[in-house]
Amino acid sequence: MTASPPANLPTVPRRGVMLVLSSPSGAGKSTIAKALLARDPDISMSVSCTTRPPRPGEVDGKDYHFIDVERFQAMVAAGEFLEHARVFDNFYGTPRGAVEAALGSGRDVLFDIDWQGTQQLGQNARADLVTVFILPPSLAELERRLRTRAQDTDEVVKKRMAKAGDEMSHWFEYEYILLNTEVDRSIARVQAILDAERLKRDRQVGMAGFVNHLRGQ
Ligand code: 5GP
Repeated sequence: MTASPPANLPTVPRRGVMLVLSSPSGAGKSTIAKALLARDPDISMSVSCTTRPPRPGEVDGKDYHFIDVERFQAMVAAGEFLEHARVFDNFYGTPRGAVEAALGSGRDVLFDIDWQGTQQLGQNARADLVTVFILPPSLAELERRLRTRAQDTDEVVKKRMAKAGDEMSHWFEYEYILLNTEVDRSIARVQAILDAERLKRDRQVGMAGFVNHLRGQ
């Protein structure tokens, strides 16, 4: 758990980080993302817009913003998405406004997206982006995780393994590469990446003022 500083300690305003976690399914990305959100109060998950109907139990505004196709297309036309994609018969997009508001107020945003979404974010928000690619320790372990997670047929598991191979070929497009051999260690490492990125000079937008204050100017 990252504790907030006591009220009497100075804090220097900073710009938030857009932290992208990508991996083939089964590599442990969701577990790492969930743990990070639970232990670090300054980061929250990006909530996408989608045109697909909510599934049972999904909450509008929490899991997704559920909108209709007309509204989605109007948002595309108005440049309101940082990235968007069509997946099967539905549209999905990352709304720019919420992310900008979070970053501007010093909050970090976590993205659980694939390499295509990451490429688009790179084109639209390069300076704010920190990208992490998570790999399984071995093919056998990936297969084991895919098999224990869902009661899929051999054929479905084979398809997922093939898709994982495609996904993994994009590892080189990411800044940080992590082998998820031991999940607690991976969580600590992603936290360390985030902490270091928060300290980058360019993100510490209030530092010039703070140093001037220290120097009595
Ligand atoms: P689902 O409908 O099962 O929630 O998601 C289907 C697919 O859409 C998943 O592969 C998911 O990663 C992807 N997806 C969800 N939100 C977004 C988004 O904002 N942008 C993009 N590019 N893909 C998304």
